Amino acid sequence: ARQAGENHIEFFSESMSRWAFERLTLEQSLRDALRNRELVVYYQPRIDIETRKILGMEALVRWIHPQFGLVSPGQFIPLAEETGLIVPIGEWILRDACRQNAAWRAMGLPSIRVSVNLSPVQFRKPNLHESVYDALDDAGLDADGLELEVTESLLMNDPSETAAILGKLKSRGIHISIDDFGTGYSSLSYLKRFPINALKIDRSFITDVTSNPDDAAIATAIILMGHSLKLSVVAEGVETENQLAFLKVLQCNEVQGYLFSPPVPAERAQEMLAEQIFA
Ligand code: C2E
Ligand code: CA
Ligand code: CA
Ligand code: CA
Repeated sequence: ARQAGENHIEFFSESMSRWAFERLTLEQSLRDALRNRELVVYYQPRIDIETRKILGMEALVRWIHPQFGLVSPGQFIPLAEETGLIVPIGEWILRDACRQNAAWRAMGLPSIRVSVNLSPVQFRKPNLHESVYDALDDAGLDADGLELEVTESLLMNDPSETAAILGKLKSRGIHISIDDFGTGYSSLSYLKRFPINALKIDRSFITDVTSNPDDAAIATAIILMGHSLKLSVVAEGVETENQLAFLKVLQCNEVQGYLFSPPVPAERAQEMLAEQIFA
């Protein structure tokens, strides 16, 4: 038994140091990822539930690592946030997405909005709004071509500061949406205080929306609440025709999910936009 215990301890510490090593390796290569052009922005269409036209594209970052292959954002965004690397990385994504949308508009493609996820860590920098204006100016993109997705937890943790920054951005014409909505604790009265345009219902409520009465009730409540505040409501993670039909009855405004398309490289997104393949 003692032997086994020792082995166990040894195994544990070995795996811990391997974990630490891997993390360090990942952190070092993340530092180089931008310079080595290993980060790529993919786009996932956001579709008008009535007309089935593409209204926007959400920018979702991908890391194509020369040895590890495709590293998902779920694996490296948290590390980027802990190390502060999310600031330069997030700024690069923002600039790239603005440039891409300006290029699409210049080609005469249907005018859409690109939506870019902002980490709460990016809000700790006092000049966030200025780097957003710079990204728009340098790309030559109108403010109405950009939407910023922020999480509910950001609003909860630093409400007055966040409201001030979002207010500046929105007054310029940039759209603001609340991502993963329903997973935090925002109340109706609370939401009213923030300058926002849209709520994105978290995928966790959409997955079983046609079979689980609780999820259906939550999705319904979010849509009604959003509409009563004159906000647009977007459902994310829509994978089936049944989910789509359910959301249509509730007059949800926009949908996004594998039913239409996963996130795809810019060239493919451009084809979808040119052909309006869902309409
Ligand atoms: P998110 O912002 O909630 O993005 C939606 C995630 O759901 C994406 O995962 C997307 O690929 C996935 N998804 C979309 N439709 C479906 C569907 O029908 N079914 C399923 N199962 N999944 C679907 P992804 O790209 O892996 O990103 C994960 C998270 O990483 C994002 O969640 C976001 O929080 C973060 N992230 C991604 N890109 C960025 C970025 O550029 N900046 C920041 N700060 N965070 C990002
Ligand atoms: Ca998002
Ligand atoms: Ca989301
Ligand atoms: Ca999410």
